[in-house]
Amino acid sequence: MSWQTLRTLVHKGWWVIHHPFERQDPRYWRVQLMQSLLFILQVYSGAFVVLNLTLFGYFDIAIANLCVFVAILSIQIDLRKNLNLERSAILLTGTIVVFMAVYLAIAQGRNYSFIWLSLIPTISFFLLGIRRGLYISACSLTAAIVFIVVFSPDWPSYELNMPSYFNIALSLFALLTISRHYEKSRTEAFAFLAKRNQELEILAVTDPLTQLFNRSHLDAMLEIEIRRAKRDSFDLSVLIIDADQFKTLNDSYGHLVGDEVLVELSGLLQNSTRATDVLGRWGGEEFLIIAPKTDQDGAVELAEKIRVAVGRHRFTHDDLHLTLSIGSATLSPNDTPVSIIQRADEGLYQAKHDGRNCTRLGKSTA
Ligand code: GH3
Ligand code: MG
Ligand code: MG
Repeated sequence: MSWQTLRTLVHKGWWVIHHPFERQDPRYWRVQLMQSLLFILQVYSGAFVVLNLTLFGYFDIAIANLCVFVAILSIQIDLRKNLNLERSAILLTGTIVVFMAVYLAIAQGRNYSFIWLSLIPTISFFLLGIRRGLYISACSLTAAIVFIVVFSPDWPSYELNMPSYFNIALSLFALLTISRHYEKSRTEAFAFLAKRNQELEILAVTDPLTQLFNRSHLDAMLEIEIRRAKRDSFDLSVLIIDADQFKTLNDSYGHLVGDEVLVELSGLLQNSTRATDVLGRWGGEEFLIIAPKTDQDGAVELAEKIRVAVGRHRFTHDDLHLTLSIGSATLSPNDTPVSIIQRADEGLYQAKHDGRNCTRLGKSTA
């Protein structure tokens, strides 16, 4: 059997718990972890039934192992059927704690049996969380110490025989496997959340129709860029671009075609701007460009380049024609984000007043 086949078997086997939880749901990771734990414990208890019957001859412990195997199987079936994570976690922790008590009582210190106790904190913390994990671990480990003290007169010497080697090696291997599974699901959960955070950050600044920056991000960027331009003493211009007679276009072609035109127009605007320019949808059929290191002449040049390109563009809907009116303003020393937008708006108003399809400057305050 190849490694790949083995992996497929492990990931597609009947012990896989099917559930409807999405990866952003903490229950998703809890089920994953429980599924792994159930699988590992099932393999272990099954293997120990065989080992105790054939190799070690501990029939009483083999029966206890068999009980654990059946209990784990029942929890697995119940979890798959009802997906009651809380109940399954409590039952699983309970099964392990009861089995440990029975096992240690039977073994009475022989064969390094106590090393299995190291699994109790690990499993109870993973399954039940910090508070209950701490409570169960503290109670179990205290009970174990009391047990040792009570039985200390008859405590066997620690000779290393075959069952001891098995107990030491397999318990440490179980600890390693369970910890690895826990860390893997924790790392995956963190990576998923980090990715989701990044997506949300992008979503928060993006206009859903055009995928350009939205209004609130433009507001934030305008403030930053104005501060930077004043501090480093460079020019900065702002263009407000408005699609002409867009209401008529919507009325003639329908709102959906209007949407497509806005998307196509966004592409054209993107192609006309520099990487350092900030372009976004200001609202409706209006767009804003913040152009750092651009003086008044540069701003008019950019506006005219855009206006002519859009005027000449053949839109996907062949007979459709679109023109733009653009208002421009260049930063004066006294300008604030509000005042520069106001002046660009005045330019736009003037452009509309002058018959549309043209660029006009907002009055300078300097
Ligand atoms: P003007 O040349 O004076 O700017 O005329 P206009 O019709 O473009 O301006 P007005 O402000 O009267 O109307 C803007 C229109 O833009 C009306 C509105 O339905 C449309 N619009 C705004 N947002 C969207 C959108 O997301 N999709 C579509 N299809 N239309 C939109
Ligand atoms: Mg408008
Ligand atoms: Mg308009």
